[in-house]
Amino acid sequence: MGIGLKTLQKQLAAYIHSILRNLRGRTNLIPETNFQPLKDLNKRLIQLKSFLPDNSIATMPEWVSFQNSRRCNLRCPHCQTHGTVEINKESNSKKYDMKPELMSRWAADVLPFAFEYSLSLSGEPLAFKGIENIVNEFSSFGSKLSLATNGTLFSPIMIENILPYLASVVFSIDGATQQTFEKLRLGAKFKEVIRNIKILKRTIELLSIEDKFPLRISFTIMGSNIHELPGIVRLAYFLGIPVIEGGFVYIFYDNIKHEDVTFHKSRYNYYYSKARTIAEKLGIYLNVPPPFNDAGYDPNLDPSFDKFIFGEIPGDDIGPIFYENYVSLKEVEKTAAALARKIRENISKIKPRSLDESTKKIGKRLQESYRCLLDKKKAILSEFNERINDEIKYCVFLSERIFIDFNGDVAPCCIVDRPVLGNIYQNSLFEVWNGEKYNEFRERFYSSDPYPCCKNCIYAKYVKLSSFFSIKHTLRDNF
Ligand code: SF4
Ligand code: SF4
Repeated sequence: MGIGLKTLQKQLAAYIHSILRNLRGRTNLIPETNFQPLKDLNKRLIQLKSFLPDNSIATMPEWVSFQNSRRCNLRCPHCQTHGTVEINKESNSKKYDMKPELMSRWAADVLPFAFEYSLSLSGEPLAFKGIENIVNEFSSFGSKLSLATNGTLFSPIMIENILPYLASVVFSIDGATQQTFEKLRLGAKFKEVIRNIKILKRTIELLSIEDKFPLRISFTIMGSNIHELPGIVRLAYFLGIPVIEGGFVYIFYDNIKHEDVTFHKSRYNYYYSKARTIAEKLGIYLNVPPPFNDAGYDPNLDPSFDKFIFGEIPGDDIGPIFYENYVSLKEVEKTAAALARKIRENISKIKPRSLDESTKKIGKRLQESYRCLLDKKKAILSEFNERINDEIKYCVFLSERIFIDFNGDVAPCCIVDRPVLGNIYQNSLFEVWNGEKYNEFRERFYSSDPYPCCKNCIYAKYVKLSSFFSIKHTLRDNF
């Protein structure tokens, strides 16, 4: 039986009330050293802005991607920025490194309002020299790193140095067997990565509840590893990671075009169904594209198989693997216990910094926006009651996130053909994010004529206003 309209209206009203609860009486809305009230205020404004939707509401991003480097220690053959020797050399050059003084300045502009940030979208964040100093500096804004890593450099010393500053970790693992993993993650050692993850996981388990954070696996699905989809579920279970996010490979190079999953629809459907059954049994959340409706043999598949990374269609169902043989659980326990002890001491040493004048100025602008909305509280609530069954269009990137390139270019997301919407050499981040070009992009998103990149984008969702909040949080958890 569904929930009645009245109950929905009540729930929504309670939620709006909680967003619009009166902060006027509070004296510490913009305190000297604590960024949390600013982040909280900004979050409420973002929520109201996206479901009204009203682009005139001033906000700041609550999640920031700094493209501070393209460096990577691996050379995965399917990677856009490291897939060939030449491209790998180019991406590892100095010219794509963000200048440290600029990074600090831009961080000081945006992080007072943001809960989380990420680093090196097109490379390996841990391969950037000085990563420990960056996360340490950024933690003084009360912001934490959401790390996407290949896991190879996540040694115990790295865990000790950066764990207190982490919000979440996603491990990119494209194979469940040593052979496939090391072919697809060129330069990585399966055994080392398994060991690093086990130590990290166990260390987190030994920390207190408020210092814990989630781990996930990201699996790029392609011709060469489709058959390991059930295996990756077993590997996740062994590692104690409850969530796998999988997506189909994007083909950047003609010489591996048969990795494209559309050549392997029936194989995908077969291993999808096996993986799903195992995931349900083991309690692993497997978020991968659904099976194909039109699966069959693709006549365009070259029978010589030379357009695979393996040069053949590799393997069959791999069956269970004894991952215990790759790692000493005794050593994991000992290392993790020592790390957890040291980390507990480090966490207590994190010192917040004071708010600068520019942050206070933006904070006041947000406060004004918020007060205007408080004055319209009654009208907003009645509008929601009327629209309770309406659907709204929503994109988490558009409302909350921003991508800053090494040269100051700002983009709304990392989708291949997304536009650049400003540059923070020329304007402040507040001006770009709330500026004409960004708002025009947002308005087009909500209209019947969105930018081409948004047209069939998987992140553009239609959600019922009544279920907006629960769905919004599910979507957030999935990125
Ligand atoms: S680890 Fe990531 S950035 Fe590095 S080569 Fe592989 S896919 Fe590219
Ligand atoms: S809909 Fe897609 S392309 Fe458009 S802003 Fe969102 S993520 Fe980017």
